[in-house]
Amino acid sequence: MIDVKDKSQCCGCEACSQRCPQACITMQEDERGFRYPVVDQDACIDCHLCEQVCPCLNKPEEKETLACFAAIHPDGEIRHSSSSGGIFTLLADRVINNGGVVFGARFNEKWEVVHDYTETIEGLTPFRGSKYVQSEIGKSYIQAEEFLKQGREVLFTGTPCQIAGLKLFLRKDYPNLIAVEVACHGVPSPGVWRNYLQGQQNVAEVNFRDKSTGWRNYSVLIGRKKRHHDDDDYMICYLTNHTIRESCFACPSKQGKSGADILMADLWGIKALPSLQDDNKGTSAILVYSSRGLSLLQQCGIDLTDVEVDSVIKYNPSIRDCAHRPDDYDLFWKKYVKTPKWTLKRYGSMSFSKMLLRFKRIIRKMMK
Ligand SMILES: Cc1cc2nc3c(=O)[nH]c(=O)nc-3n(C[C@H](O)[C@H](O)[C@H](O)COP(=O)(O)OP(=O)(O)OC[C@H]3O[C@@H](n4cnc5c(N)ncnc54)[C@H](O)[C@@H]3O)c2cc1C
Repeated sequence: MIDVKDKSQCCGCEACSQRCPQACITMQEDERGFRYPVVDQDACIDCHLCEQVCPCLNKPEEKETLACFAAIHPDGEIRHSSSSGGIFTLLADRVINNGGVVFGARFNEKWEVVHDYTETIEGLTPFRGSKYVQSEIGKSYIQAEEFLKQGREVLFTGTPCQIAGLKLFLRKDYPNLIAVEVACHGVPSPGVWRNYLQGQQNVAEVNFRDKSTGWRNYSVLIGRKKRHHDDDDYMICYLTNHTIRESCFACPSKQGKSGADILMADLWGIKALPSLQDDNKGTSAILVYSSRGLSLLQQCGIDLTDVEVDSVIKYNPSIRDCAHRPDDYDLFWKKYVKTPKWTLKRYGSMSFSKMLLRFKRIIRKMMK
């Protein structure tokens, strides 16, 4: 039975809770606001299925990158509302138009981030854009399995650990599944996000990657307040790795280990690639891990520019490397548990990290 003693050994993918035939595993939030499995021991029948689907207990091999491309969505509006170059929408449109189903992360009515699916083009809108909160998988793996068994094409998108969880949950390779992961800096705590939102007024809109100030200088829009990402307490605590999950520091699913067919990322190093033009509107980097992924991309009918995978990773190490654990990570949480709002403000507003981020921004400007 799953028994999380060391929190670095649970990525919160929820595969165990969905696979349990007794439905006796519930995901419960800890004091840091991350969900962990808790087993009802009286109902457990010791079938060990939960252990067999855990990405932290079953680490697969790394996968080679078959191809690496730069690309953008040709529709300017869709590209603008996407975090990178809008490749997610291109892939998803293709699958929906082919009668398939697309899974992704959206906000619910309380601005929590949840996984869900859609069978329509209009239904893709809430999935667009990165939400920097660990999403709740809910029943998505079970639903995806049902669609796959019906022979429907399924595009499942998520973080590398969610893709790894899905693949292990399914226990067999379905030829009608395309698994697409986002490059992942790490997943922030849903509890911290909830706390942060409580301090905001009139939240009618949230956009973590508002490009009206440019792709590089993206802003965070919460309600009517728009701030540069280096000026937002929530984003600073995220980007300095204080609010990400313990397991992200030793992610078991990066470097193709999740079993994804495609990885989508920002092509932050575009300036170093003379064959490409940087209009600061967002360009996607796409790493392809399987022929199935390559085939779907080619069916999208867009220009794919070959780029060297190493030159992409050089400017975007999160694609391959795990986040660095800050020296004061434990201290942050010790303080957060006692005084959540004060700690977010303190680390966000007055911290060395913020000065460092600002300093980096100035250097970047000077180099331009
Ligand atoms: C937590 C997180 C960390 C990321 N870290 C990096 C990084 O370090 N470097 C980098 O290059 N890119 C990172 N990305 C990915 C990047 O921001 C874009 O999401 C990706 O390049 C796709 O962009 P797009 O323009 O094609 O489409 P978009 O429309 O921007 O993509 C939306 C896609 O992201 C998925 N998604 C959104 N929020 C979540 C979530 N909370 N959990 C799971 N899936 C989600 C949606 O389901 C959809 O598939 C991160 C994304 C997330 C969610």
